[in-house]
Order: sequence, then C-alpha cells, then structure tokens
Amino acid sequence: MSTQHNSLAGAEFLKRETAGLAEPAGSRALGEATERSARQIRELAAGIPQWQDWREAAHAVKQYVLANLDRLLVEFERNLTARGVTVLWAEDAREANRLVLELAREHKVKNVVKSKTMVSEEMELNHALAAEGIRAVETDLGEYLVQLAGQRPVHIVTPALHLSAADCGRLFAEKLGEPFTAEHQALTDIARRHLREEYLKADMGISGVNFGIAETGTLVVVENEGNAGLSTSAPPVHVALMGIEKLLPRMEYLPLFLNLLARSGTGQKLTSYTHLIDGPVPGRKMYVIILDNGRTRVLADRMTRMALGCIRCGACLNNCPVYRRVGGWAYGWVYPGPIGSIVTPLLAGLDKAGKLPFASSLCGACAEACPVKIDLAHQLVHLRHRATSEPSPVRSFWERLMWKAWAWSMSGPLRYRLTMAAVRLGVRLAKYLPWHPLQLGAWTRGRDLPEVPGPAFRATWKEEGK
Ligand code: SF4
Repeated sequence: MSTQHNSLAGAEFLKRETAGLAEPAGSRALGEATERSARQIRELAAGIPQWQDWREAAHAVKQYVLANLDRLLVEFERNLTARGVTVLWAEDAREANRLVLELAREHKVKNVVKSKTMVSEEMELNHALAAEGIRAVETDLGEYLVQLAGQRPVHIVTPALHLSAADCGRLFAEKLGEPFTAEHQALTDIARRHLREEYLKADMGISGVNFGIAETGTLVVVENEGNAGLSTSAPPVHVALMGIEKLLPRMEYLPLFLNLLARSGTGQKLTSYTHLIDGPVPGRKMYVIILDNGRTRVLADRMTRMALGCIRCGACLNNCPVYRRVGGWAYGWVYPGPIGSIVTPLLAGLDKAGKLPFASSLCGACAEACPVKIDLAHQLVHLRHRATSEPSPVRSFWERLMWKAWAWSMSGPLRYRLTMAAVRLGVRLAKYLPWHPLQLGAWTRGRDLPEVPGPAFRATWKEEGK
C-alpha cells in the first residue's frame, strides 16, 4: 500500500462529520447548492424519454470494459504508442510519482500547470513535486481556489462549492495582492490573468483523462473553462494520468457517455469543451501514465467491481443526504460522498476507512441518480458486512461498548424497559452537557436535540387498556 494512503483519515469520519455539523451555516450552504443541482438534473433527465435506456446501455458498456480490461488495456497501449505517445504503467501512487518526477528531471521542469485530475490527488502529486522544488499550479478555477486557500476540494465536480464570491475576493487579495472584489466577472478576470502567466512559463502540463478509447488510442478530456485545452497543448511536455478503469472499447460509445456525464455532472447538454487528443502536438512530447493503485483488487471482487465504472459525475454526492450535511472533507480522502464511501475503503483498505460505508442512510437516492447505474446502496451494505466481519481496528472502544450494551438490553423485557427509561432520561439531559463521549457536544453546539416524545408506547397502551 502506498504511503499516500497512510495520511488517509477516512477512519476518522465520525469525528470529522460531527466537527462539520458544528458549523451549520457552512453545511446549510452546501446542502442548498447540492439540492438545487440535484433537482435541476432530475428535471433535465425527466425530459429525456430515453434516459433510462441510456443508463442501461452505459452500465452494460462499463460491465463489458471491466470484464475485458486486460485485453482492452493492451489494445489501448498499442494504439497510443502508434500515435507517438509513451505509455508508462504504475502499480501504485508511489511508482506513479516516481515516473512523473523522472520525466520532470529529464525535461528540466521547474513549473507545472495541472488541469483537473483526481488521480493526481490520489498520488498527492503536488506534494511530491514540491519536495523536488517543482511548482505545480492547478488551473481549474475551483481547484485553483482551494489550492490558494490551502484546502482540499469539497466536491469532485465543483471543488470550491463552499466558497462565496466574497471568500474568493478575500483570497485573491491575500494571496495574489489584488484589490478586493466580490464581483463575478472581475474575479474571473483576475484568475484568467494570473493563470495565463502560468501557462506561458510552464515546462510541463499534467491532465487527467475522462475516457480512453481503446480502439483508437484517443484520450478524451472534458471541461468548461478552457484550462485543460491550454494545459495539454501549451507546455512542451504533456503528461496524462489515468486509472486503469477509464476505458471505453470503441469511439461509437463516446457520445452516450458524454451525454450522461455532462447532464449528471452539471446539468449541461454537453460540456463547453470536449478534447479528443490523438497524440502529441507536433514537436512536443506526450506521456500517459496508467495507474492501478488498488484497482485490480477491486476488480477481483465481483460484488464491488462495478464501482470502477464510475465516471466521476458527482450526481451521487448531490443526492446524498449525508454528504449534503457534512461536505467532502469529512470523508478524509480524495473521493467523497457515496462513491467515496465505497472506493476509499476498497482502494485504501477497510482498516483505514472502514467507517465510511456506514456514512449513509441507505435511502438509495445515490443509485437512482447514478448515470451508469452503479448499485451503490448494495455495495455499501456489502462493505458494511465486510467491515464488521473482518477484524477491524476502526471500531472504537465506545462503539464496541455500545453494541455490547445494545445486545444486553435486547436480551429480556425488563432489560429493554430499563434501557428505554435510561435513554429517555439521557436524551433529556444530554443537551446540557458541554461535551459528550459520543461527540454529541458538537451536535448540540450547533442545534437542539429533538425533544423526547410524550409517554412511551407501553405507558399509553396501559392507559388505553384501563
Ligand atoms: S457513482 Fe455514479 S453518480 Fe456517483 S460519481 Fe460515479 S458515476 Fe456519478
């Protein structure tokens, strides 16, 4: 397992979750924005009669890809190589970082521009580059903002969803020395001016890959700002980072996935820019690093395999009542929301992130929204089963004690009645506590505990009987 996973804090989910809940204003803004986005996307999908057919078709294509990944990857490599691209393979994040650093040394790279790549966040590539004295600047506006703020993205599609225009204005004033403004066009102009300078001095551009077409060796990158186009073509060296699962077998399937991704991600019919990269710009160098980083382990488990079909649209996040309240940081790693609660334990291990599958109400809204029909709720249940049946250090002393107490209370009518009476009294008293062993203190600082309802059912029954 790579060292990057050692910094993973998914096991700390409950602590982070309750810390997030102590700030109701932030969680309310995030909740409102994601709810609005989910509603818009639902309405858009409802107006497309063939939407469910598209989802079925995309699911079938991804199943085919995952069942034939070995053969398709070889075909993809062959076609990329024929186009003049150097293909490199990385077993884990450490190896992928090593490859990028070797390329940086070979091409005497001092400045890097990056367009959105989640794989690079898995690798913690910016830290690896910084340790070698190489400056890496994110060029996706949301990623640029969170990088300036020294934060992690809160959402996989809209990384700076939590920042208001005024927050951005303050950030630009503090970090870039610009006069404060909260006006959207002025903020965009500032970002564009600063980023334009970065493209001009960059020695290397690093991008992600939305889809790799095995049949043609084409890389497909979608975006809305033009930054990916510049990052992949302006610098003399382009390095594309992709997970092994990002393939489509043939070009004919691309329109289906573009339709689903744009609509599910941002409610657009198509993203503003769709780049089909067929080899390096003449006179430039191009490399593709294909990363495993635990994916073949996921592939080997038939129950969880389909999680690799994710196209990173973010729809499951927007529809998840837990994510809406806690935001992306609570999940402790690169992938938040329902899909993060699945892929993080799968890629990093249940010992590090075994709490995450429990961060769900299992309402199924995520699976209904997923454009590739990943059965997220069943996968979460499967991982819960694994997390509780495998020896796991993520269960705390308090959790073990709680389950023991629950088992005791459920083993006889008298014990049950005593427990219920104690719970009712405890809930009444809990709101007066400044802290609580189960971290209720963080909840009660920001909101009131619900009132204990009137008489217990048994008391009412007895009364009615009289
Ligand atoms: S799991 Fe489905 S809904 Fe969630 S990000 Fe992936 S493709 Fe989108």
